[in-house]
Amino acid sequence: MNAKEIVVISGKGGSGKTSLSASFAYLEAKNAIIADCDVDAANMHILLGADFEKQEDFMSGEVAVISEDLCTNCGDCYNVCRFDAITKMDDFHKVDPIACEGCWYCSRVCGHGAIEMLTQKAGDVFVSNIKNNGKMVHAKLGFAAENSGKLVSQVKMKAKELAQNLQKEFIVVDGSPGIGCPVISSLSGAMVAVLVTEATVSGLHDLKRVQQLVKTFHIRSCCIINKADLNTERANEIEEFCKKENIEVIAKLPYDITFTKAMSEAKPIVEFDEKSEVSNLIKESWEKIKELARK
Ligand code: SF4
Ligand code: SF4
Repeated sequence: MNAKEIVVISGKGGSGKTSLSASFAYLEAKNAIIADCDVDAANMHILLGADFEKQEDFMSGEVAVISEDLCTNCGDCYNVCRFDAITKMDDFHKVDPIACEGCWYCSRVCGHGAIEMLTQKAGDVFVSNIKNNGKMVHAKLGFAAENSGKLVSQVKMKAKELAQNLQKEFIVVDGSPGIGCPVISSLSGAMVAVLVTEATVSGLHDLKRVQQLVKTFHIRSCCIINKADLNTERANEIEEFCKKENIEVIAKLPYDITFTKAMSEAKPIVEFDEKSEVSNLIKESWEKIKELARK
């Protein structure tokens, strides 16, 4: 049995996506593998009490390294590097690994075989035990490291492998915000996309962009409008848009200080105050999402 992937995304940050993902993860921990694919700002592991049980290196991209012994200081590499990654020193040249884009140009022009291109470690992938006897896969991208789309795909592959081995029904994915490469990676292979937005002009604007992306993948989607009572006019506009696009609005969450309080206690909302109105709405939403994934 292949696990059904449910991806929680939003067109913008700050819409409550991770708070909701963490609550879904907490509710379904026993029957799902959780994947934090918001690798540029991963923090769901904090809410879920991850124990960092296993670690693997994420290798990605190449960087030029100059051998001090072989370099004759001719300057040819310095002259061709378009990224100003090479510095002249007294006796040899040196590469700044952060500025280096790994284009290989310097290595090709060096007539002395002094430049080696090395694959570098760009981050870490972790498998952790979490609250409610669950397991999650999460990652940390290194400083100034790129290729977060590739890292997302590694996190998802690991989550799929675990779901298969442990016979879990779902993979709950906290996707990246926006519409770039990491989000595209988050969505690939998904069964349901949960679009989280808030009742603002930018919320609607970004929802439209992200829905365009979801459509190209032919993924079933539903929508949660967060802080819907703060601007009912915008919330209505979002509902109209969803109706036109055939997206079910599964919840309109009111503004609730519980979101912030739960965050400050490092807990998912449904753990922090399981009987609050917002927790009940989140639980109902999760049941609807599972139903959609099982169709
Ligand atoms: S091209 Fe090669 S030999 Fe010349 S400065 Fe660069 S590394 Fe040194
Ligand atoms: S690999 Fe490209 S970016 Fe890196 S130092 Fe060489 S020329 Fe510059």
